[in-house]
Amino acid sequence: MTSSEKYVPSAREQAFLDTVENVKYDRESINGLKPFLNDKAPDFVKDFYSQEELEALRNLKDTERDVEARMPVKMTRHYAELAQNSAPIRRLVKADPSETESLVGSEDPGHQMDYSPVEGLLHKYEMGLMYVVSTCSAHCRFCYREELISRKEIERGDGTVAKKGLAQIPAITAYIRSHNEIVAANGGRHPESGREKLREILLSGGDPMVLTNSKIAEWFSALAEAGIESIRLGTKELAFFPQRFDASFMAMLDSFHATYPDVGLRLMVHFNHPDEFLLKDEGGNYIMDEMGIFIWHPATKLAMDSLVKRGWVTIENQSPLIKGINDDSDALRIMQRAIKRVGAHNHYFFCGRDIIAHEAFNIPIETAWKLLNESQKGLSGVETHARLSITHYKGKTEVAAVTNGPIPGVPGTENGVVIFKILRNAAKAGDRGKVCIVARNPDAIWFDGYADRVIYDEAGLFEYSRVTAAPVGSKA
Ligand code: SF4
Repeated sequence: MTSSEKYVPSAREQAFLDTVENVKYDRESINGLKPFLNDKAPDFVKDFYSQEELEALRNLKDTERDVEARMPVKMTRHYAELAQNSAPIRRLVKADPSETESLVGSEDPGHQMDYSPVEGLLHKYEMGLMYVVSTCSAHCRFCYREELISRKEIERGDGTVAKKGLAQIPAITAYIRSHNEIVAANGGRHPESGREKLREILLSGGDPMVLTNSKIAEWFSALAEAGIESIRLGTKELAFFPQRFDASFMAMLDSFHATYPDVGLRLMVHFNHPDEFLLKDEGGNYIMDEMGIFIWHPATKLAMDSLVKRGWVTIENQSPLIKGINDDSDALRIMQRAIKRVGAHNHYFFCGRDIIAHEAFNIPIETAWKLLNESQKGLSGVETHARLSITHYKGKTEVAAVTNGPIPGVPGTENGVVIFKILRNAAKAGDRGKVCIVARNPDAIWFDGYADRVIYDEAGLFEYSRVTAAPVGSKA
């Protein structure tokens, strides 16, 4: 089946889809800088930018430093209200001229397109990631999908230049079926790529929660019918518009689970800072109940409780560590503790990627490691499950350790070393656990900051050559 052919749901699928109810949501979103520049912003957000800030942004308009050309500006009313009492939240959505001071970076961070056998799908590891939509309820200024959200043309591994396309159900399900049939016929591995069964798919974008319940349901059931064992949905909607997790969405989840009880559902949520979900008093302190437990924003708590009590959905938080937003170990400690207490999990913290303009957002790798470790002091073992990951072109890599002292007898290690460990190799599973040791460089914000000081590299992080032509299995 190709993308031009119509996808025909099975009878079981159709019966599930017929149960789904759609609701119209009004996020009262403010789109772009125009309402602010033209003094037309709604009252609840009137003072979001000062006149000086607006003037500085106006002066950059239509120049190569135009902040909106890099990343469209957008926020919901819910988030704007949280921002009134939080500098980190404001920074997350507020355009700032410093964003385009340096436009150094990659248009295709992680060389993602090397892993795209079908438009809108990245096939890495034993899982696939799909771009199902190109916007979110609000836009994080640091987003590492800025090229998708601002619809930029990017160069792919084969030299062609085009905007990233969105995944379509017919082509994606055909690819999954074809890949898995070839793998099964070949004893569990793809004969060309060595890949195993494609068994887990992440709906991403953009934020799939801006789609209707019906559209999300169509994806869920089509993937289940194609043999996917676990479906992930990546979303920041719990922070931007928690009201989206309402009874109609929960009913869709329940109906899906009743129809496909063996298919796992994983919600990959995205909180960067506790100000996104904890209540604060006028002095800026988190409010606690009489037992000393932090109190959540009621709408966010309701959404989280509704998800957690469905034990067949797991909720995993993952967050990049971003300059001026959450480079604060006390905030990270509170966030990890509060997330775990309500039954969700702390999955990853990420060092920033090498996106265009990453210098405005990324903190040094060694600072991030120290920050996370500081934040985990005083937390219990189950509250500290999150690891610090940095996504190398090769795959997910843990920043496993940073030493303060030298390794005796090893020249070049006088100021200590950083140890990276491969968690997942995007192309083949075999490299997991391999390490790379480099001499410290406290200023390094990306791997290239260590290129001149590699001590030991069984992981091959510094011998990387770009994957070429059709690395991930046959096209369907
Ligand atoms: S929610 Fe995620 S995809 Fe959307 S703008 Fe933020 S970082 Fe980007």
